Amino acid sequence: MGWNVLYRGLLSSCNYHCSYCPFAKTGNSRSELRTDAEGLGRFVEWVLGRERSIAVFFTPWGEALIHRYYQEAIAALSHGPHLHRVAIQTNLSCGFDWLRNVDIRKLGLWATYHVGQVARSQFVDQCRRLDQEGVSYSVGVVGLREHFGEIERLRAELPDSVYLWVNAYKRQPDYYEEREVERLTAVDPYFPLNLKEYPSLGKPCRAGHTTFTVDHRGMARRCHFVEQRIGSIFDEEFADRLAPTPCTKEVCRCHIGYVHRPNPDLYSLFGPGLLERIPQRWPTIEPRFSSFSS
Ligand code: SF4
Ligand code: SF4
Repeated sequence: MGWNVLYRGLLSSCNYHCSYCPFAKTGNSRSELRTDAEGLGRFVEWVLGRERSIAVFFTPWGEALIHRYYQEAIAALSHGPHLHRVAIQTNLSCGFDWLRNVDIRKLGLWATYHVGQVARSQFVDQCRRLDQEGVSYSVGVVGLREHFGEIERLRAELPDSVYLWVNAYKRQPDYYEEREVERLTAVDPYFPLNLKEYPSLGKPCRAGHTTFTVDHRGMARRCHFVEQRIGSIFDEEFADRLAPTPCTKEVCRCHIGYVHRPNPDLYSLFGPGLLERIPQRWPTIEPRFSSFSS
């Protein structure tokens, strides 16, 4: 049975300063980056030593692709015979020279556009570069009210073949009015899936069985949202500790978590683009936002 392995190391620094970012306003010392690089190296070695089908998804606290050691890790993983996918969340501010060393067929990018941190034209240019390189990617935004107009302009500028997702702003309960949900659904037809909070206590989830998250020490937990540890991936009996178990959290709010629940069945919606969030299909919805101001 194959594994989807999420990796989040020690890195917590970013070259952007998004107001809504819960975690990346910190810096990393050289020594922390060294520790992060060492942990990543051990993880890559472990993945490459497995004889089962593995997909790796990097979900860093900060921006990883501006660091050469993450670029090199992705390149190394992409050539692993049992590695069928390597994906990463990124703000897409990096250069692309490192792509030369990557098996592009296995790479997926979850690229987020952060309004106010980069000019839209610059971000779209980066997307064009990815198209030229043949990289598979989705583009995403946080659905803040003050950014609606910018989100729509981004949708208009991206090729139709690029899926643009909108993450619901959930820090403020009942943030959206009905017409605003319609407006964002006109951009991302699957926005209502993200808007929802999924009651999860006692419900089945693949997390802890065929998917799990690993930190820079090699310690695994079933997902980012459950603190309880499964154990070290370096232990010989690690695989024996993975088993289907019901969720222990009241709700699952985040795409990178609920996507692994059997209900709703998002594996069949996303298929091979599961980790980088590219659905196999998305309906075209006639924009209904022209009557709204941004
Ligand atoms: S780009 Fe991402 S990690 Fe960086 S500040 Fe913005 S939200 Fe946080
Ligand atoms: S339902 Fe969400 S919180 Fe619960 S185990 Fe799965 S991913 Fe984790």
